[in-house]
Amino acid sequence: MLLCRTFPRGPLTAALPYEQSRILYGGVPVREATVTAVEPLTPETVRLELRLDDPDCQFDPGQFMELRLPGSEVKRAYSLANTGNWEGRLEFYVRLREGGHFSSYLAHRARPGDRLTVHGPQGAFGLHETGLRPRWFVAGGTGLAPLLAMARRMAEWQEPQPARLVLGVDEPQDVFGLDELAAVASELPGFRYEVCVRKPGPGWSGPTGTPADQLAGALPELADTAPDLYVCGPPPMVDAVLHAATTAGVPPERIHRERFLAT
Ligand SMILES: Cc1cc2nc3c(=O)[nH]c(=O)nc-3n(C[C@H](O)[C@H](O)[C@H](O)COP(=O)(O)OP(=O)(O)OC[C@H]3O[C@@H](n4cnc5c(N)ncnc54)[C@H](O)[C@@H]3O)c2cc1C
Repeated sequence: MLLCRTFPRGPLTAALPYEQSRILYGGVPVREATVTAVEPLTPETVRLELRLDDPDCQFDPGQFMELRLPGSEVKRAYSLANTGNWEGRLEFYVRLREGGHFSSYLAHRARPGDRLTVHGPQGAFGLHETGLRPRWFVAGGTGLAPLLAMARRMAEWQEPQPARLVLGVDEPQDVFGLDELAAVASELPGFRYEVCVRKPGPGWSGPTGTPADQLAGALPELADTAPDLYVCGPPPMVDAVLHAATTAGVPPERIHRERFLAT
């Protein structure tokens, strides 16, 4: 159950696994935005770019916004792929789901100039300061969005931790985000990335399998120097990665994750 979908029926005490500074006492900001780009990247993935009317666009990499469709009560959560800025820019990667409300809007009706209501930033998924420990980012499909935001932040701040990103997709035609990852790699010397494909065709020469397979192969070699893991994507993929990581001995407190549950 997502905590944000629950309502207290009486007094309660809650222990929350994040710092007090992450708690919004003033409520979630609600603002209007204009669609500036709707760009199909693969048969199932769309890049959506918005510009807030309010140029103050501060958020932490890893957070998400809820987007409300024009003239409707339908609201969906999407993780931000860019970093905070003063131009009101918001960037998202959305996987289209057959018959989905927001997916149908993006696939058939969305146009630059459309107006959307944006609720956020929200969420406690984000980078943790743990010294120079390596950071590994593990993404399933559009789960790349918040992890790309974190890698971009590392590049902006020239953070020194070695960082590695694994993006897993189903088929070669589902690969996206390579230019963005290459841009981070060109700015951040300790950053490496790879894409693995679960069902490779004859034209695929890169790594095959799932991100969990990649991790299961790579982690045991690291023994005592287990990295901090940041995992995001569909729940089965996140669970498989958690299983691979804990089996390889990564302590649970080093594993941070966001599941793209249906909202
Ligand atoms: C914190 C958070 C961040 C998210 N960030 C992203 C993101 O960056 N990119 C992204 O693509 N998605 C993200 N999601 C998922 C997103 O919020 C929607 O659930 C998804 O886009 C489907 O919305 P829809 O209106 O198109 O489909 P709906 O109308 O909600 O559903 C249509 C059909 O698809 C199924 N379905 C819907 N969502 C999912 C799902 N996530 N997994 C499996 N089946 C599903 C439904 O059960 C239903 O059968 C995030 C979810 C959460 C909780």
